[in-house]
Parts: sequence; structure tokens; C-alpha cells
Amino acid sequence: MELSSILSTYLSQPKLELGDRSSYIGASDVGQCPRKAVLSKVVPERHDINTLIRFERGNLVEKIVEKALIHSDIEFIPQFEVKHPEKPFTAHLDFTFVRDDGIAVLEAKSVSRMPEDPYPSWVAQLHFQMGLLEMSENIPVRGGIFCIEMNSGNFKLFNGYTHNPILFDGLLEKAGHIWTALQQGTAAITEKSPLCSYCAYRDDCPEYDTEGLQELPVGDMAMDFQAAKQQEKQLKAEISIMRKDLEAAVKPYGEAMAGDYKVKLGTSTRNGFDTNRFKEDHPELAKEYQKTSTFNRLYVS
Ligand code: SF4
Repeated sequence: MELSSILSTYLSQPKLELGDRSSYIGASDVGQCPRKAVLSKVVPERHDINTLIRFERGNLVEKIVEKALIHSDIEFIPQFEVKHPEKPFTAHLDFTFVRDDGIAVLEAKSVSRMPEDPYPSWVAQLHFQMGLLEMSENIPVRGGIFCIEMNSGNFKLFNGYTHNPILFDGLLEKAGHIWTALQQGTAAITEKSPLCSYCAYRDDCPEYDTEGLQELPVGDMAMDFQAAKQQEKQLKAEISIMRKDLEAAVKPYGEAMAGDYKVKLGTSTRNGFDTNRFKEDHPELAKEYQKTSTFNRLYVS
């Protein structure tokens, strides 16, 4: 048996702890586009081996956290399942910490590039988990998202979330809509986002309906443009990681040789203008100097 098929067979196994994902609405469902959530249950996407390996990074992050908690004798419950008392809504919490003053939830994530802020889908997922937990346990719930950038080892904890009844109500409504569409076979609403580029259900998605649009003879150019933009994004991410690593290496010396290259950690200053503060302090003057200009912007999706 070839190694690729051994890997593929292993990585394609369903996660048993999640059960039959078509029989309930989970926290990851409410964090994404409802149409995609429904279709992924009705016609599950088949992933190639590279995608399956990428997905596995999430499990590795969980394993790292789990081993660290066990090593430090910190009490926690892994993969705690929490259900809505009446509806088919279920969440599986990566790490749950039960304490006298409440419960804390920690969601573990892996990323290729560390975001400045947590993605809205992660935050929605966490609020759904906290809401279900507060409903079933009836004690204060707080939560955080721990994220590791697997290439660089960079990590970040987005912390301080507490159960928010208004947000939770909105998520319950969304979960209800997804469930109804799933049961009745009706169309679920779409939620367009940058993640649409990776969506397997995009071909017939009404958001990308191309009927009636002029066909231009520059299809190859558009494809090259998208590929180049993608490379640009990856290059920027790689440069940023290498910059951080080089900075860390030269920091103790200020200036050093790296092969044929001289590496130096310099200091630059920049004068900035605090536009927001100026607007607050001098609103009338800011209005007087405000200028609106129109320019073309290219969208290729
Ligand atoms: S392409 Fe975007 S809007 Fe359409 S189903 Fe996929 S995620 Fe939703």
C-alpha cells in the first residue's frame, strides 16, 4: 500500500467524538455561511490529501495544549459535549475548565498566518459554545481562543470573552435557519465572505450568478492575476516570518554577519498624524478639509 493512500485513509476517518454531523447543528456550522453549512452536510466535500494534512494541524494544536495542561496538572475536560435542552444544537468544546466561580472554555486553532484579531467565525463559534454551556450549567461562562501559527511557532491567546445573550440569540436564530433548510430541503441564505474563494459550493452559488454578464476574452489573464495575488499574499507572510526570525537572531548583537550578508537592527522614526484625534478635537475644521475622491477599484472573485 502506498504511503499516500495510508495517510489518506487515516486522515479521512470521521471524528467519532463529533458523531453524525448531519443530525445536529454544531458550533462550527453557526460560524460559517448557512448555505455552505447545509450543503456540507447534504453533499459532503471530498478533500484531497494535501487539504486533509492541512486540517490535521488543528488536531496537532489541540494535542500540544492537552499535553501541556496534563503536564502542569491542570484539571480540564477534553471535548466536552453540550446540548441545547430542546433543539438539535450541540457543541463540542476543545477544553473546558470547571471551577467554583464558573466555567471557562478554550477553543484551539491553527493558522498559517496569525491574524491581528480573531476571525468572526471563531468568535461566533465560541459564543455559541458559551451560550449552550450557560444554558445547561446555569453558571457564569467565560472563554478564549488559543491560536498557534504552525510554521513559526508564534502563538496568541484571544481572551476575555463572556457569554453574551444578544449574540447568542442571533446565533440560535441562525442555527434554527440552518436546521430548517436541512430538514425541509429549502435554500439557506448565503453569507458572502473572503472564505468564498475556498468554498466547494461556489459554482452554483447565487452570490456568484454570472448570467447576463459580458464574456471578456481575458480569462487567462484573470486566472494569472488571481494566482499572482495569492503568491503575493504567501510571499508577504513568508517575508514577515523571516523578518521576525532575523530580527530575533541579530537582536543580541545589533549588527552581525549572516553568510555574505550584513544584518543590522536599526531604529527608524516616523512622524504620524493622528487623524481620529484631530477629528475629535476639531470636528468643524476636519470637515472643512475633508475631501472625497472617486477612483476605480478592481474586484476579481
Ligand atoms: S460561495 Fe460563499 S456565499 Fe456561496 S455558499 Fe460558499 S461560502 Fe456561502
